[in-house]
Amino acid sequence: YRSADVICIFSGLIGQSWSMIFASVGYHVTIYDVDPGQLVRAQKNIKETVQAYKEKGYLRGKVSADEQITLVSATSSLKECIEGVIYIQECVPENLELKKKVLGEIDEIVGEEVIIASSTSCLTPSSMTEHFKHRHNMVVAHPINPPYFVPLVEIVPAPWTSQDTLKKTRELMEEIGQSPVTLRRECPGFAVNRIQYAAINECWNMYKSGLLSAADIDKVMTDGLGMRYAFIGVLETMHLNADGIVDYCKRYAEGAYNVQKATSIPPPILYDVQTAEEIQNEFTSSIPVDKVADRRKWRDGRLAAISKLKRDL
Ligand code: NAD
Repeated sequence: YRSADVICIFSGLIGQSWSMIFASVGYHVTIYDVDPGQLVRAQKNIKETVQAYKEKGYLRGKVSADEQITLVSATSSLKECIEGVIYIQECVPENLELKKKVLGEIDEIVGEEVIIASSTSCLTPSSMTEHFKHRHNMVVAHPINPPYFVPLVEIVPAPWTSQDTLKKTRELMEEIGQSPVTLRRECPGFAVNRIQYAAINECWNMYKSGLLSAADIDKVMTDGLGMRYAFIGVLETMHLNADGIVDYCKRYAEGAYNVQKATSIPPPILYDVQTAEEIQNEFTSSIPVDKVADRRKWRDGRLAAISKLKRDL
């Protein structure tokens, strides 16, 4: 083990995933939470999940399941949690004031060399870290749910984040088996949500214009584009669909431009409850709202299988 390298995590849904990922490669992890009951639940849940993943063949890393479980300890003292760590992964709820409060508490007691990463999905790092002494060590490391099976991590700097922090965070993410991308500067939505909202917008528009049913719109992704995108990205798809991306542009750019001119409705769209209700009604026979949690478990199983497939190929 790397007995000297202890990682500190907060213990909600995302914090538990991070803990299992770090422990899977042998890091000592200390979880912390304001709610002591949550610490007990989180440790129990981590133990049960690691054991279940072992039984299903989903367990990551080379360390045994029992060892992974013992590598995760818990404390309700932030000071104790931070003592001797090299890296902190903040995972408190998505609320700017709360993030600033917690990062401020860390800033007061943390050592000089420690990287402080936030799991935030939407908040820019500069909005959270501006006034802190250790702001050059602060960065966003945004995981994608469920991080245990979806390896992407978006690393996003504030203007004052040091290059050393970016480099070390990226190396650490690679070491634990995640797949980091580094943005050169912060922007709203980072990369994932910008692409995701562009896709949602087109689906929303097609639905509202009555072009396809909700189920058929989703099938376009699951049985079409999504199958490709699990292995090759948008740009490489262009490259492979002709004799290189330059040839693609020569052959298809005009056609693509004409489709866009004819179909694009100017963004942004505020996704409205009325349309959402119509879509939800269409889902009611296949996935009623009280079965969403079951369907999420099914999704995680599928993602586990595809991530295993990608590793084994
Ligand atoms: P969660 O509600 O499951 O967990 C948050 C935890 O923080 C809870 O256990 C809570 O008790 C604890 N907490 C609250 N105040 C605290 C404080 N002052 N000090 C210490 N602990 C405190 O939330 P989550 O879904 O795990 O999300 C955490 C972060 O991860 C958010 O920033 C979210 O945007 C980001 N994220 C979430 C997802 C997702 O799909 N859930 C995906 C990527 C990133």
